[in-house]
Amino acid sequence: MQKKETKYIFVVGGVMSSVGKGIIASSTGKILQSRGYKVANMKADMYVNIDAGTIRPAEHGEVFVGEDGVEADQDLGNYERFTNQISLRDNYITTGQVYAEVIKRERNLEYGGEDVEVYPDIPKEIVRRIEACQKKNESEITIIEYGGTVGEYQLLPFLEAARMMKSKSPKDVFIVLISYLLTPTLLGEQKSKPTQHAITDLYSVGLNPDFVICRAEESATSDIKRTISNVCSLPIERIISAPDVYSIYDVPVNFEKENFGTVLLKAMNLPSRHKDLSDWTALASKIKKIKKEVRIGIVGKYFNLKSCKDTYISVIESINHASWNLNYKPQILWIDTEKYEKDQSKLSELDELDGIIVPGGFGKRGTEGMILAADYARRNKIPYFGLCLGMQIMTLAYARNVLNLKQANSTEFDLNTPDPVIATMADQVEKIKNKNYGGSMRLGAYPANLKEGSIAKGAYSKAKISERHRHRYEVNTKYIAVLEKAGLVFSGTSPNGVLMEIAELPKAVHPFYLGTQFHPEFKSRPLVPHPLFTTFTKACINKKLRS
Ligand code: GLN
Repeated sequence: MQKKETKYIFVVGGVMSSVGKGIIASSTGKILQSRGYKVANMKADMYVNIDAGTIRPAEHGEVFVGEDGVEADQDLGNYERFTNQISLRDNYITTGQVYAEVIKRERNLEYGGEDVEVYPDIPKEIVRRIEACQKKNESEITIIEYGGTVGEYQLLPFLEAARMMKSKSPKDVFIVLISYLLTPTLLGEQKSKPTQHAITDLYSVGLNPDFVICRAEESATSDIKRTISNVCSLPIERIISAPDVYSIYDVPVNFEKENFGTVLLKAMNLPSRHKDLSDWTALASKIKKIKKEVRIGIVGKYFNLKSCKDTYISVIESINHASWNLNYKPQILWIDTEKYEKDQSKLSELDELDGIIVPGGFGKRGTEGMILAADYARRNKIPYFGLCLGMQIMTLAYARNVLNLKQANSTEFDLNTPDPVIATMADQVEKIKNKNYGGSMRLGAYPANLKEGSIAKGAYSKAKISERHRHRYEVNTKYIAVLEKAGLVFSGTSPNGVLMEIAELPKAVHPFYLGTQFHPEFKSRPLVPHPLFTTFTKACINKKLRS
């Protein structure tokens, strides 16, 4: 039987990082999908960590959790939001995983007495993983985004893997270089020299780019396109502009304006099956026209405003999706709760907001202020949505202020609390004792049942759900009955009824006071907002219209 043809597109960065490679890789997947192809997106990160679970999100961005519990780079979230293809462990490679696998195989005598070398055994393992992901996804086109920038030492084995695949099958493997065109203020014109250097860096590892995508403030001028096309001997149509855009959802639309889909398929010798990006194009243009605003506060510990956009990317996008769908533009405000710990009178600033979200988080810092904010939101009927830590915080606020258990706490923040209302999950105790921290939380998708008549059930319009988790602590079973008696409703539980997955106050008591032990933000899509984000945003809009 003839092997089915599959294509691979490697997306690599030149000049500098943080120019939106993830969005470009996602958009490439989106436009090829819109032409009728089954695509899979992968991310390869250069770090030695096995996964992103042990990396500080404040510096490296959100830890995205997949259905199978993979703790991955935030770009897997972008891929899912753009292509709606579920990313699993196979879609994510790190240097650490590659080495761990090679070393494990060596220990199992699988190298038949040969010595194991960085070259070629490391790049070969990278190739094996890429091909395994393709097989698992049955993708016709697999897009592999490399973290980092060409010229970086740690990227070499990954570039070599691409070279191995390309030299074996030149018609099936393509390199897309994403470069940045600098425009020095003094000159006021785009310069292509750094991009030329990035191309030379690629040459030095035996790779020619097949496409060059020019990120810049403005579209690349035709002079610049011509220069770059000469330098890498590519037809000018393969030099694609990617200027700054109003929203990330414009990027696929912009690519189509540049004919990227057509030229890419032509290069791959694939026919265009049909083309339908209409829903997406409509959304991208709708976003620009929305005028009405809803003010949502993200309430947590100290926010570095530059990096928090990456740290909370799925939360921000979920707010966007829900608001846009309701024809509102969200104005997101970052509220540092440590100030409330020093001065509670500052809590009244929350009145200015239409609703607040307490997102996921770890560690004690800022939690006392979050508890104060959660209590203020309850008393003042400000819509409150708690995500994972945010649910634990609202439960603690309820225990302290309604049950009058003044020292109620989570054992994550105070091991000696007399009232451990939030406590270590039973299966986590041993893990913490043995310092077994990597990939050991309750991770990935788990089912839950919803309570009849609850806000949650109304939002989802179904009784059984499945959502993604990432936590070690939970509502302590010993306190469930007293909390319920005091009016807190556990409207979502694990099917055996043991784990509390959603807590809420009835609609008659509060317009929206709800927290989830899971992370709904991982499943929101631009055209299909998450029902809980939609219900929360509706409550925020109602508050705005009332005041
Ligand atoms: N730190 C809390 C826990 O581990 C909450 C985790 C989170 O918000 N993802 O249970």
